[in-house]
Amino acid sequence: MGGYIMQLQNMSVNDGSGIRTDIFMAGCPLRCAWCANPEGQTQDNPMVHYAEADEIVREIDRNAVFYRFSGGGVTFTGGEATAQPAFLDELSEMLYDRGYDLAVETCGIFRWERVAHILTRMSTIFMDFKHPDSGEHRRLTGAGNELVLENMARAADLDTELVVRIPCVAGANASDETLARSFELIKQAAPGASLELLPYHRYGEDKYRQLGRKIPPDSFRIPTEEQLERWRAMARSAGLKVVSYK
Ligand code: SF4
Repeated sequence: MGGYIMQLQNMSVNDGSGIRTDIFMAGCPLRCAWCANPEGQTQDNPMVHYAEADEIVREIDRNAVFYRFSGGGVTFTGGEATAQPAFLDELSEMLYDRGYDLAVETCGIFRWERVAHILTRMSTIFMDFKHPDSGEHRRLTGAGNELVLENMARAADLDTELVVRIPCVAGANASDETLARSFELIKQAAPGASLELLPYHRYGEDKYRQLGRKIPPDSFRIPTEEQLERWRAMARSAGLKVVSYK
């Protein structure tokens, strides 16, 4: 069995410990207005292809030496890694059985009953949180934040490290007031979780052009390092452990 992916990115160091291979899986239930990987939102565009699980595992095996000596492994990302649950289940089971360290990056929109046993194979779960106001979350991403908060609370109860990631888009979801409310909600839902603030970037713009789509609006701005430092300090004051995988 196989599934739809954009690419395998070897030598990645931003999505978990050590040197990793990121598997970019296609399909996503959200349509975030700032998305950096618009080609990952669907499975039917020229940047997506079908791959057999065996084929992916063989490619991962070729990089095993890097994982072993760096404490790295494999990270499922996307798109949304849980959008193809049967494929993720099969692939993660094959890699888990071979002893690889696994991590997953998710937008938090998935059916818990279908995905929970897959999450227990992960050493780290990265879960996005995008806006504290559900109406604004829906306006900016296409869905409310209730399910994200529910899944965050459930993931926090697993015996797995949980890192909540906020993509900080000035002019959209990143202001002192909005982030302070996000920190409170995260602390309530997942008191033991770590927090990572990811600054918005515009590297995905060329992909929008290739797909014939409108680029994100100019009103979405990259936060300054000073703002990021202030927000990290606010998060620490709110009792969250702030981490960085960059
Ligand atoms: S969840 Fe991620 S991949 Fe999906 S639309 Fe949002 S930013 Fe893009």
